[in-house]
Amino acid sequence: MAVPLQLPTIQHWTCRSCAGCCREHQIEITDEERDRLAEQGWTAANAPGGVEPVVPLGAGSRFVSAKWLPAAFKRRARFRLNHAPDGACAFLRPDGLCAVHKEFGEATKPLACRVYPYAFHPSKKGATVSLRFSCPTVTANGGAAVTENAAEIRTLAHDVLPAGYKGGEPPRLSRSQAVGWADFDRIRGALTACFTEAGPFAPALLRAVYIAALVDRSDFAAISGRRLGEFLDLVSNAAAEELPADLQEYDPPTRAGELAFRGALAKYAHKDTAAAAAGGLLPRLRRVWGATKLVSAAGLTPPGLWAGPVPVARLAEAAGPLPPGADELFARFVRVKLDGLAFCGPAFDGWPLTDGFFALALTFPLTLTLARWRALADGRDRLTLEDVREALRLTDHHHGYDPGTTGSNHRRTVRQLQGAGDLAKLIARSARPPG
Ligand code: SF4
Repeated sequence: MAVPLQLPTIQHWTCRSCAGCCREHQIEITDEERDRLAEQGWTAANAPGGVEPVVPLGAGSRFVSAKWLPAAFKRRARFRLNHAPDGACAFLRPDGLCAVHKEFGEATKPLACRVYPYAFHPSKKGATVSLRFSCPTVTANGGAAVTENAAEIRTLAHDVLPAGYKGGEPPRLSRSQAVGWADFDRIRGALTACFTEAGPFAPALLRAVYIAALVDRSDFAAISGRRLGEFLDLVSNAAAEELPADLQEYDPPTRAGELAFRGALAKYAHKDTAAAAAGGLLPRLRRVWGATKLVSAAGLTPPGLWAGPVPVARLAEAAGPLPPGADELFARFVRVKLDGLAFCGPAFDGWPLTDGFFALALTFPLTLTLARWRALADGRDRLTLEDVREALRLTDHHHGYDPGTTGSNHRRTVRQLQGAGDLAKLIARSARPPG
């Protein structure tokens, strides 16, 4: 029997063959996939990129050339698809199509290429499906409703999920508490309910953070089922009544909060294309130096990061008002992550729901700061929807996929910002107009 799948109902996607993923992602392949590509007869001479199409995972930098790897290491090595000097996958043809797909059919491509931009995570009896907003068509909500792609997604799920898979345990609720699926879903539902009505996103996010903070502090040993539902109704009403209606009423973040926020920003503010990853140690050192400069808030943003140089201090200015379409984009992003369980648990290195949600909430000020950086570098003070979309693509390229965003250091930062009240202040500041 097919594993039940929960699909996001508000998201659209049909691949536009823009080849963005073929340039931006490093694809590790299994031994079986490597053997299949070898049987198909691909070599540097017939692969469109004109390079050896499969190389050891660490190969390709100016410091580790594939041909110098010792034979013993090669046998143990993990492998990845290679990239041409212009950053394109070795199999990407000039017409934007994949040569493996074109010559041998889609089913023979590596699984990671076939699955993107979908992501599967365990639910009670099956799996939830999320999408990655690093794909520009996901961000733009382009194409058919995802629910119309159900047959294709079911085929992918069959290949992704282990044989005999029957669902998983719920992620932990908080650091100290765990609940069953029914209560976990009640709490997740209360967070989702904040984003179901059209309107300004920032106040909705502030209400959800308020609810998550109360959940984080409460003891659920004696509250479950219907009583938990009543508790969540009370908390949701309190959030609507107690929080300031005007974003200008929030204090600015503390100095410690600013510092921690810039440290988090440094984790997201670099574009790790496959070409950059293959560039060796120097670009990586440049990024570390860039990150240090961001945290120190001195002078101009350094080169080699996300966008051109702008004064670091200007990144802390209010980024509002949001351009038309941005509220809908952020609400859809958060709902797809919540519905698809792509913010905690197995998707996020085991983070519990509350910490995972605080980290998800932090992506809002991070994304708007990146968008503001892009606009300032372009000589503009006002954000466009394109600034926000490109910034969100970068945020979701890293969020949950870059170890820097799921590690204990980032988790401490997230908890520090939330515990000191700086998370709410950063959210309010990013969305309000200057002044
Ligand atoms: S980035 Fe998205 S739209 Fe572009 S080729 Fe990849 S999956 Fe298709």
